[in-house]
Amino acid sequence: MIDASPALRLTARDARCDATVVSVRGAEIGGTEVVIMAGPCAVESEVQLLATARAVRSAGAKVLRGGAFKPRTSPYTFRGLREEGLALLAQARAETGLPIVTEVMDARHLEMVSDCADILQIGSRNMQNFTLLEAVGACRLPVLLKRGMSATLSEYLQAAEYIMAGGNDRVILCERGIRTFEPSTRNTLDLNAVPMLKRHTHLPVIVDPSHGTGHSWMVAPMAAAAIAAGADGLLIEVHCDPPSALSDASQALTPGEFEQMVGDVARVAAAVGRSVERAACHVT
Ligand code: PEP
Ligand code: MN
Repeated sequence: MIDASPALRLTARDARCDATVVSVRGAEIGGTEVVIMAGPCAVESEVQLLATARAVRSAGAKVLRGGAFKPRTSPYTFRGLREEGLALLAQARAETGLPIVTEVMDARHLEMVSDCADILQIGSRNMQNFTLLEAVGACRLPVLLKRGMSATLSEYLQAAEYIMAGGNDRVILCERGIRTFEPSTRNTLDLNAVPMLKRHTHLPVIVDPSHGTGHSWMVAPMAAAAIAAGADGLLIEVHCDPPSALSDASQALTPGEFEQMVGDVARVAAAVGRSVERAACHVT
């Protein structure tokens, strides 16, 4: 059971007859198809983003991810190209046809990010930034809400309520690992969250095994496990040259590793009655 049931007025499974399917430029998140979102942790340059975007698209990704505003632990590390990064994401969408998911960290940037994004990402560190949740709740774009690294599922769903209470019901949940006492992985990917959330809400649930593990070699097996557990999609970090990545280098897949992962995931998806559509989508 997830506590706080009376507070879960809009997210609860019985608040809706059907499961919510979020449609974004031809990608349907929450339907039978498993939707893979992939791309670099951060937008670093035109060459880096465009090469990665083409590679993930041809391997089967349906949404391109990439941060222009990066929440970093240290202020002395790369914090994103900001407006220039958004322009590069728009360019990558124009070239590949892939919709864009990118993080908005601050309500003051919402208009600027909304001009480029197809899906607004709220990062783990902002899951309980209630001002930001209210701001995206008033927005027309879908919201990918990541679980806070120390949030219970009850707190997580109450954060989603903030967005839905503002009138935006296109919310995608994303399990990305929680802090535990285990130091060998960056986070502990809580796959219990997948069946629990699917049971208690009508919202699509995706999994981010990149931040959930912190190790590129763990991404494919945990991606497959997420789909076996019932996830509707994946969020995967991919970089053309992981050792040179300006953020999260240790968890980035190469394009070749990503293609192989998509194959593994497709086989697991078929075993649980889902599919991964690998035909390239049309350039718009
Ligand atoms: C990200 O997706 O790049 C990110 C910063 O994720 P999280 O908010 O889950 O740490
Ligand atoms: Mn990252």
